[in-house]
Amino acid sequence: MDYNSMFEQAIAALKQEKRYRVFTELRRHAGDFPRATRYLEDGTEQDVTIWCSNDYLGMGQHPDVLKAIKDAADTYGAGAGGTRNISGNTRMVCELERELADLHGKESALVFTSGFVSNDATLSTLGKLLPGCVILSDELNHASMIDGVRHSGCEKIIFRHNDARDLEDKLKRIDPSRPKVIAFESVYSMDGDISPIREFCDLADKYNAMTYLDEVHAVGLYGPRGGGVAEREGLMHRIDIIEGTLGKAFGVIGGFITASENIVDAIRSYATGFIFTTTLSPVMSAGALTSVRHLKQSNVERERHQERAATLKRLISEAGLPLLPSVTHIVPVMVYDAELCKQASDTLLDDYGIYIQPINYPTVSRGSERLRITPTPFHDDAMMADLVGALKDVWLRLGLRQAA
Ligand code: PLP
Repeated sequence: MDYNSMFEQAIAALKQEKRYRVFTELRRHAGDFPRATRYLEDGTEQDVTIWCSNDYLGMGQHPDVLKAIKDAADTYGAGAGGTRNISGNTRMVCELERELADLHGKESALVFTSGFVSNDATLSTLGKLLPGCVILSDELNHASMIDGVRHSGCEKIIFRHNDARDLEDKLKRIDPSRPKVIAFESVYSMDGDISPIREFCDLADKYNAMTYLDEVHAVGLYGPRGGGVAEREGLMHRIDIIEGTLGKAFGVIGGFITASENIVDAIRSYATGFIFTTTLSPVMSAGALTSVRHLKQSNVERERHQERAATLKRLISEAGLPLLPSVTHIVPVMVYDAELCKQASDTLLDDYGIYIQPINYPTVSRGSERLRITPTPFHDDAMMADLVGALKDVWLRLGLRQAA
């Protein structure tokens, strides 16, 4: 048995399909985000500007967040010391959970080690706890939700993206006595569109289904206190389980769900992805807690973020580049080809010091490859002018499609 060649073949297949991933080695400069240093293979360094970070508000370098992290390391030490079963509840994590429950107006919250784990652990457990359950899942849901649904072992029905009519068609056909969960996201992070949350909640009421909403790309960013799109639209109380991350707008790491006391207690008691893994470090929990608290009472970052995104979208449209219409902070510029997308990204980085990761299959469907740009409050007008100039050059050099 030649194990080595099996792995080689697996890698070769990805290379042949032009979707072998290469990660750039970067060092972010705290206090000077989005500037960073790139480390090249030949040992040289390059100054670059990051344009694709999910640290959407730059909270990963906020002085209060950094101070909380340093203080917590001195007070608590580095790690949580094990699972909660072994090490008990770290006080800092409990505080964070109370803060998150309050953020979403729910009775309870549960913190996980990442957003991915929270989706996988919660959805898989829900399916197991509700006998005969059917999970209705939006076709563009994130991989962590897809994994969670799969691991639940229950029946899965995929409905067309953001399509309430299709969802209703599917709900109608399910035996009314079976438990049903509608699982969807608020902001879809590749296209920058938003789901019809109210319509989905109306359908959930009509067909007696539970609602599970992933607000990973919205928490901290939307709503008067950063509770997400459901908060902005006054709908948080209509969602049974709101899931989010502490690793994107909150700038740290970790994931969570918020829900009723009974739902959270049941997930806490049954989810293997919660029970059998070391708790999020108190150090990171302290940083996340400070970030959540800050964004609950400060709108400055959110307002500047929206303004920056709107400005960049305008500049890109005016330059004739193929911007995918987005109603959020996400700015997708379409390339429509995997190889060219990688080339565009490489050229921007090598020749212009602009870092934008190419987005290829399976993150997006084949033929819809793109550069996904995420301007933050720290991207100023001069940086935007540089970016748009570089994009125009690269589009010409590579003969890429212009806006229709
Ligand atoms: N949900 C969605 C919609 C995501 O896009 C992601 C990550 O990109 C996750 C969940 C996972 O979150 P985390 O990065 O905290 O693991």
